[in-house]
Amino acid sequence: MKEVFIITRRMLHRKWLLPNLLYPARCPVCDRVTAGVEAAPCPICRSLGKPECAAEPLCKKCGKPLEEEAREYCLDCERRMPPFVQGCAAFVYRGMEDGIDRWKNQNRRCYTSFFASEMMRLCAGKMTRWKPEVIVPVPVHPRKRRMRGYNQAELLGEELAGRLGIEQDASVLRRVKNTAAQKELGDQERKKNIQGAFAADSQAGIYHTVLLVDDIYTTGSTASEACRALLDAGVQEVYFAAVCIGRGY
Ligand SMILES: [Zn+2]
Ligand SMILES: [Zn+2]
Repeated sequence: MKEVFIITRRMLHRKWLLPNLLYPARCPVCDRVTAGVEAAPCPICRSLGKPECAAEPLCKKCGKPLEEEAREYCLDCERRMPPFVQGCAAFVYRGMEDGIDRWKNQNRRCYTSFFASEMMRLCAGKMTRWKPEVIVPVPVHPRKRRMRGYNQAELLGEELAGRLGIEQDASVLRRVKNTAAQKELGDQERKKNIQGAFAADSQAGIYHTVLLVDDIYTTGSTASEACRALLDAGVQEVYFAAVCIGRGY
C-alpha cells in the first residue's frame, strides 16, 4: 500500500511542527533525533542511565562525586583548596564529553534549556541556599565568541537566572587571554595556561555573593582563576554551578 504524507500549509505553521521539521529535537547525550519537542535524552540513553547524575557522596567543596563516604574532599581540593565557597554540578562529565562539545562548539544551543532544568532539578537546593545576588557566566575570549557566535555558559546563566529569579551580569568578568583548550593539558599546565586569563571590573565589587556558571568543572583551575578575579574586585563570596563535573577519585 502506498503511503502518502501530505503536509499542508496549515500544519506547517502550527508552532510545533515547523521548528521540529527544520530542527528536530535531539538527545544531548548521543545526538539521536528524538520524538520530543525539546532536547532531552532519548529512550536508549535513558535506559542506560545516561546522563549519569553527580550523586552523593560528593566533595564538600566542589561537588565532585567521591568513591567513599568517609572522605570529605576530592583529591584536587585536598591538593589545592579552591577559593570559592562551594560548588555543584548536575552530571558526571564522563559520557557527556561529546554532548558538551556539540553544545559549545557545534551550535547545539538547543541543549541549554534541558541542562538548566536538570541543574534546577538536582542542585536547586544548594543554589537557593547560597542566596546569590547575581549569576556571572565564565566568559570566553572575544575571538572565540565571534567564531562560535555565542558563549554557552552565558546562555545557561540566562536560563538559570530566570529560574532562580535573579539577574545575570555577563559584563563584569572578561576573558583577557585566549587560552588553549584546558582539556588537552595536564594539571600543572592547566594552572599555568589559565593564569591571568580573567579580569573583573571594579563594578563587580557591588555584588556580595556571586554564582559563577560554567559548562564543565574538572580540576577546578578555570573556576578558581575566574573566582580569584572576582574576589580581587571586591566580591565577598563566590559559588559555582556547572552542568558536568569530573569524578573526585
Ligand atoms: Zn541518546
Ligand atoms: Zn573537590
